[in-house]
Amino acid sequence: MKINSQKKQFGKGCKVSLFTFGTMRATENLDKMYALIKSAYHTGINHLETAASYGNAEILIGKALKKLEISDNILTNEWIVTTKILPKGDFNYLKNSFESSLKNLQLKKIHNLAIHGINLNDHLDWVLNGDGRKFIKWAFKKGLINQVGFSSHGSYSLIEKAIKCEVFNFCNLHLHLLDQSKISLAKLALKKNMGVLAISPADKGGRLYDPSDNLIKASAPYHPLELAYRFLLSNGITTLSLGATKFEDFNIAKKLINSSHELTSSEISSLKNIEKLANKQLGSSKCEQCRSCLPCPSEIPIPEILRLRNISLGYGQLEFAKERYNLIGRAGHWWEEKNGSFCLECNKCVPKCPMKLNIPDLLKQTHNLLVDKPKKRLWT
Ligand code: SF4
Ligand code: SF4
Repeated sequence: MKINSQKKQFGKGCKVSLFTFGTMRATENLDKMYALIKSAYHTGINHLETAASYGNAEILIGKALKKLEISDNILTNEWIVTTKILPKGDFNYLKNSFESSLKNLQLKKIHNLAIHGINLNDHLDWVLNGDGRKFIKWAFKKGLINQVGFSSHGSYSLIEKAIKCEVFNFCNLHLHLLDQSKISLAKLALKKNMGVLAISPADKGGRLYDPSDNLIKASAPYHPLELAYRFLLSNGITTLSLGATKFEDFNIAKKLINSSHELTSSEISSLKNIEKLANKQLGSSKCEQCRSCLPCPSEIPIPEILRLRNISLGYGQLEFAKERYNLIGRAGHWWEEKNGSFCLECNKCVPKCPMKLNIPDLLKQTHNLLVDKPKKRLWT
């Protein structure tokens, strides 16, 4: 039976559930896509998120939605769909690829179109002044989209610029309990009445579906992922993406599908215990993510690297930190380019750190702890 779930205004578009089914990992075959979309429906989710670049996801969604209409009487128009395009190409290329997205999804229009990966100034410029702008105008004029948004793995200042540029109605951001560096940007976007989707709080948020024993103990009586979700929802984030691959992945969402209220005192106490855990494990070597050490003449993303150190040693999420560290320099503009091995030990950063951290030493230590063979990356 369908759960009667809370829906929140997503920008100037339709209302969406507190969780969004991100379909990136459901692309094995039609049976899997169909079954997972059906589970999402029975969880109370009404928002599907996909991209033309997620293999055959759009085709499978189109077929699954038709099958749900015929076999389960779940109407296609009950779903809000977000798809994404990359910020590249000329008008004709964009028009053709968007038309093929519509055809694959078997839809006449898309509720939310996101420009996926405004990671560089050039990408934003492409939207504001280039072919991106021409394409967006065309899509609105033809009535093919309700609103446009963006996702970004870019710098704080670039995301801030994108939020303030008055083109976008929603944004998809990396917002995580264990990485709160973009929460203030989310609040800025919400203040401007934009919809805010948190990208992958479970996986990119620290692989919280597979927490360390220490993290489990600290967050009791809650599962760490449940606390992470509640932290975001209580901060007003409109919807959280959930990249389910099996039915059980919806369990926590089912429990929290109406839970956007303020944190309870018991949740606050568990969140404090998680922080205490990190403080105890890291002692005086904890990086507080203040970014005062930047810029580094060698362009090392010191806070990002030391955040992975915090996550591995402080919270015990070593495998996650290793995976992210080893993607540095291997994912183009989707992630950082230089790891700790690029440190020239010039010590310019050291006096700038209010925590008096021996940054070159910590970078070396982090590199030795986390460096591994490269892993294949999925789109985020
Ligand atoms: S010591 Fe290393 S990290 Fe610090 S500023 Fe110099 S090169 Fe950058
Ligand atoms: S200045 Fe120190 S505490 Fe702040 S981000 Fe840099 S290393 Fe971390």
